[in-house]
Amino acid sequence: MYFISTRGEEKVTGAQAVVQGIAGDGGLFVPEVFPTVPPEEIERMCEMDYAERAAYLLSKFFDEFEEDGLLEACRAAYRRFEGNDAAPLLRMDNGMYMLELFHGPTCAFKDVALTLMPYLLKKSCEKAGVKEKILILTATSGDTGKAALEGFKDQEGVKICVFYPEEGVSKMQKLQMCTTEGNNIDVVAVRGNFDDCQRAVKNIMNSAEKREEISKRGYILSSANSINIGRLLPQVVYYFSAYCDLLSSDQLKMGEKVVFAVPTGNFGNILAGYYAERMGLPVETLVCASNKNCALTDLLKTGTYNVKRPFFRTMSPSMDILISSNLERLIFELSGRNAELTASRMQSLSVSEKYSLRAEELKELKSLIYAGCTNESDTVETIYDFFMDYGYPMDPHTGVAMSVAQRYEAMIEEDKDAEKHPIIVLSTASPYKFPQDILYALTGNDVKDSYKGVKRIHLLTAMKVPECLKEIRYKPILFKTVVSCDKMYDEVLKFIN
Ligand SMILES: *Cc1c(COP(=O)(O)O)cnc(C)c1O
Repeated sequence: MYFISTRGEEKVTGAQAVVQGIAGDGGLFVPEVFPTVPPEEIERMCEMDYAERAAYLLSKFFDEFEEDGLLEACRAAYRRFEGNDAAPLLRMDNGMYMLELFHGPTCAFKDVALTLMPYLLKKSCEKAGVKEKILILTATSGDTGKAALEGFKDQEGVKICVFYPEEGVSKMQKLQMCTTEGNNIDVVAVRGNFDDCQRAVKNIMNSAEKREEISKRGYILSSANSINIGRLLPQVVYYFSAYCDLLSSDQLKMGEKVVFAVPTGNFGNILAGYYAERMGLPVETLVCASNKNCALTDLLKTGTYNVKRPFFRTMSPSMDILISSNLERLIFELSGRNAELTASRMQSLSVSEKYSLRAEELKELKSLIYAGCTNESDTVETIYDFFMDYGYPMDPHTGVAMSVAQRYEAMIEEDKDAEKHPIIVLSTASPYKFPQDILYALTGNDVKDSYKGVKRIHLLTAMKVPECLKEIRYKPILFKTVVSCDKMYDEVLKFIN
């Protein structure tokens, strides 16, 4: 299968798209066509375990990869999740389902893709005949960084540099990243927010001059962010997997539609849900949940994507994003795959910080997505109420999704004509990654020390503390560099010298 750029003529193989990370014209790679998964194939997938489902779906996109190798890689990746399952589905007492995506090595859903991506990148280099070493630049709002570091540390032929907003990640997220050991990694704090980090990384990747300079040192650039199609496609799998689990347990009949509620930041997770729908998964609606940074909610309300607005730091830092990169892939589809229009909108976004959709595009968008946002007290209340009512503790990102999902459910219940469908909430991180905020939500108490927070949440909820968070407690901090945005490139050059 080929992949094309959202902004122009570029057309490359899957391997090339993964290696490059971003198209030469600044656009993002999308599949030239969406492979289909008819009902009988969904039924066949019910018999498979998670790794088999992943290999099955991914081989439709990466058809030049050997299927055996892909399956083996998926098995190796998903063995690193508790219970060998990257996406267990739990029924809650309020009738909703939780799709728990955080049982991997770094306790957030980014692991689902980033445990597999090193294999995809290595294979892609082989297929594309790349001889140079790879330098992965990653901007993180907290969780991608650690997941990428775990995935790529000590990998031969690869170096990885992670940039995170100095004040924009949780203490635990920072600790996780800065204690990572490995001979090929760099972790750098940036004075700015996630949007600043992401913009600067994209600027380096899109600059012919900088690429050239980096190539003189023997490296080609790639990305571990969801702008890379190799990061995005493994995320399509758990949407299908959840559906199969509902079928297998007789909670759903083939063809019945479901609703997914997704806590959204860079729009990668929810876009994977849209891709699943395009491939044939019976999806009624995707609920796009934002925190106080609600540019996406306003887009659905007004038809204008306006990122000229105050930026808020919240207790769901991985969603503190105004410029959601993957929205470009969706508006490319809404425009009828009009690359010229998409390019001009992206130009307008970078110059005047906004663009507008046409009426028919907005209508189409509204038919796909229900959007809503929460403020901090909504989120706290949802986490508290849900734990009190159903005994289930959730992290702040999942709290945002649950809050908006409940609002959606109430709206459907009020509408006598509306059909009801099962609601699946994507649970994207372990509550233990945000001990201060969760303890506050559950008890109203503040605690300074993350590990005191962990202990008290454990006493309160009896939920198991993940090993990976326990073991970093006494590890030394290995990275202390802080730079301004305009010095990120210098830091990259220093790192590969
Ligand atoms: C990254 C992240 C999100 C947002 O996902 P996007 O793909 O950026 O929309 C939500 N929750 C958690 C815990 C995350 O790490």
